[in-house]
Amino acid sequence: MKLYNTLSKTVEDFVPNEEGKVKMYTCGPTVYHFAHIGNLRTYIMEDVLEKTFRYLGYDVTRVMNITDVGHLTSDGDTGEDKMLKGAKREKKTVLEIAEFYKNAFFGDCAKLNIKTPDIVQPATGCIPEFIQMVETLLEKDYAYFAEGNVYFDTSKATDYYALSGHNTDELMVGVRDDVSEDTNKRNKSDFVLWFTKSKFDDQELKWESPWGVGYPGWHIECSGICMKYLGDKLDIHCGGVDNIFPHHTNEIAQSEAYVGHKWCNYWFHVQHLNDERGKMSKSSGEFLTLSLLESKGYDPLAYRLFCLQSHYRKPLTFSYANIDNAGAAYAKLVKRIANLSREGVADADAVKAYHDKFAEALAQDMNTAQGLTVLYDMLKDSALSDATKLAIASDFDAVLSLNLVREVVKEEAPAVDEADAWILEKIAERAAAKKAKNYAQADAIRAELLEKGITLVDTKEGTTFKKA
Ligand code: AMP
Ligand code: ZN
Repeated sequence: MKLYNTLSKTVEDFVPNEEGKVKMYTCGPTVYHFAHIGNLRTYIMEDVLEKTFRYLGYDVTRVMNITDVGHLTSDGDTGEDKMLKGAKREKKTVLEIAEFYKNAFFGDCAKLNIKTPDIVQPATGCIPEFIQMVETLLEKDYAYFAEGNVYFDTSKATDYYALSGHNTDELMVGVRDDVSEDTNKRNKSDFVLWFTKSKFDDQELKWESPWGVGYPGWHIECSGICMKYLGDKLDIHCGGVDNIFPHHTNEIAQSEAYVGHKWCNYWFHVQHLNDERGKMSKSSGEFLTLSLLESKGYDPLAYRLFCLQSHYRKPLTFSYANIDNAGAAYAKLVKRIANLSREGVADADAVKAYHDKFAEALAQDMNTAQGLTVLYDMLKDSALSDATKLAIASDFDAVLSLNLVREVVKEEAPAVDEADAWILEKIAERAAAKKAKNYAQADAIRAELLEKGITLVDTKEGTTFKKA
């Protein structure tokens, strides 16, 4: 298989450490809120990668963490703990929030046919492992203690910027959110391995450590969980492109310092899903969750198809027009396969030939769009019987996971009742008016709804409504 490797910045032949086996690690969600569909794009494409490896005959062990402590609002180790922020927002405990959003995440994954990784490990379950790693990094002199926190000294790392391609001059303290400097750091790029001095005295989850009561930094969690289950040599590490710096850069620095040799050979990054404002995020624009799409009548698998239609290394723009097209294409595709006759026996040679063709498309840096073209070509191939087409579609679905082969196709039923659909349309119209700075029209829409007993509620995640 050929794969683009962020580390070498080229498309390379994928050669795992042990023949036929793939050790794969994926950064999991920070469970302080629902995943947005941008996050889910990354998880869909990672799922396709895992299934591609399996389709090509590899034996895969995949591990994913759940970040339930230590991820601050800025990736540069400043700001509030995201989990604590979520708990305050909902007046619940951090553990309640973690449990709720972890379940919500796996609920979304199930709807998108994303397979659960072989091992899923919450960070709060591995505190002794993180402490042991930090102790070793201190012993090896890669880390230092300053004003209550333990930091990794990035000046000691070999080729710290190899993955990100940054240089020291360009470096900002963090790449996302607010940027502020921690004066305890010896170098701007140093990062916290263990916090005891948090600006937030009310930090809920804390553990005893040799450096005082505190909690782990976000980066050490992924290295620790990865090594606990996959050992000191990893084949492939995955995430969204925003993870390249500083998160994955720091993971490489601390892991290689810890194991004393090269740690991970291939780095796989999924480009962002954007909306019309730019990168989709939880804090700006409409908070687009899978449930929101469902409430508007979209099939989650239409969103999966939408993602598969584009290459994972290209930015993808979400719009309702785009998802409408994907939804129509999905309904047509499923119907076409449902109309194939169930009689007869599949031609094994033809199934094998198409299997190879599909594998070839995926082996070219996971070209899912080309894979879909092979599917459409196959359905048009007049030399194939219906039974053969069904067998091939079912074979491809091991990777595509679009529930392509169904006995009966339900007639489309609207998921929202008509009155709610009308309100949602009005909300969208008002949002567009506000965006165009047409406040008079936006106010008129609010008033029109109020007259009908519908109150609009503006939240950071978008507008919702209450009926009288
Ligand atoms: P988080 O829960 O914030 O740690 O993010 C979960 C995953 O989603 C990470 O792999 C991120 O890199 C990825 N991600 C964040 N924003 C986007 C986006 N707009 N499009 C695609 N992936 C994203
Ligand atoms: Zn991670």
